[in-house]
Amino acid sequence: MSRVYNFSAGPAVLPEEVLREAAEEMLDYRGCGMSVMEMSHRSAVFEDIIHDAEKDIRTLLSIPENYEVLFLQGGASLQFAMIPMNLMKHGKADYILTGQWAKKAWKEAQKYGKAEVIASSEKENFSCIPNLEKLPVSEDADYVYICENNTIYGTKYHTLPDTKGKPLIADVSSCFLSEPADITRYGMMYGGAQKNIGPAGVTIVIIRKDLIQEEVFPGTPSMMQYRIHAKAGSLYNTPPAYGIYICGKVFQWLLSQGGLEGIQKKNRKKAALLYEYLDDSRLFSGTAARKDRSLMNVPFVTGDKELDAKFVSEAAAEGLVNLKGHRTVGGMRASIYNAMPYEGVKKLVAFMEQFEKENR
Ligand SMILES: *Cc1c(COP(=O)(O)O)cnc(C)c1O
Repeated sequence: MSRVYNFSAGPAVLPEEVLREAAEEMLDYRGCGMSVMEMSHRSAVFEDIIHDAEKDIRTLLSIPENYEVLFLQGGASLQFAMIPMNLMKHGKADYILTGQWAKKAWKEAQKYGKAEVIASSEKENFSCIPNLEKLPVSEDADYVYICENNTIYGTKYHTLPDTKGKPLIADVSSCFLSEPADITRYGMMYGGAQKNIGPAGVTIVIIRKDLIQEEVFPGTPSMMQYRIHAKAGSLYNTPPAYGIYICGKVFQWLLSQGGLEGIQKKNRKKAALLYEYLDDSRLFSGTAARKDRSLMNVPFVTGDKELDAKFVSEAAAEGLVNLKGHRTVGGMRASIYNAMPYEGVKKLVAFMEQFEKENR
């Protein structure tokens, strides 16, 4: 067996300890004589698994009692519709566009009401977070929507926008649990698990309870109502049980890393190593505005498409895989999520130094 350093943006690297533990429990989960994949989601054993997962994410983020934690399906993309269907009570919401995912969410919301763009960095090819001062938040907006970490462009909000009292709804798919966050500043925080938390198929929604008390958009399917999932403790129908089990293991792993403060320290150290090299390099350069740089996704280019392709293929031969950038940015992208070890980034930087020497 030989594991590579996987810089994929998602589905992405998971902690090796978690995968080993899951492998050990594959055929016989703690004396049940069966795998977690094979058991009823109504069994006492699975109830413990989902209960512990919820308890641990509550501990990690210090989630207060007035927030629900929901384990759903349909990816982050289904949330693009669920959010307006459940939360656009007066048919109006404000969106800040910082990349393709925010734009997709905004487009979807237009089907259910008036979705206003109040700031955008599209003219800058989303290489930065737009100026958030004097944000023209609509008087009658039901919420303000952001994509907090922009997976494709490598930017992140380092300060949250002032929403003038409107609930802030944030897609945190690619920065979920990467550093401490004050959940009380959000009406809802959500993300697909496959970037920083677990396998594809689980979407985690953390939402303030008062936001899901009222009526939803007429005709909203039961499966798309937060209220119904909340009432059923995420067991309205068969949940993505195995995925939730792995997420639970990742939460345990995060607790063992010193919680979110601990993982933040490690993430900062990894990102600093790569950014410091990029800033000094005479071959490579980062594409995101310095002040907005993400700790999780680091896009960079040489400025020469053929050289970029050569880099990606030679890196892969060294066991540094999935470094090709998104087609809209080009070049390379290193996603260095929670589970990417420091040694992986060190090896990447050493390889980049060598490549620079050979190709400049
Ligand atoms: C990957 C990603 C999505 C899309 O997630 P799916 O689970 O594939 O729907 C949405 N938002 C962000 C920020 C992402 O990184």
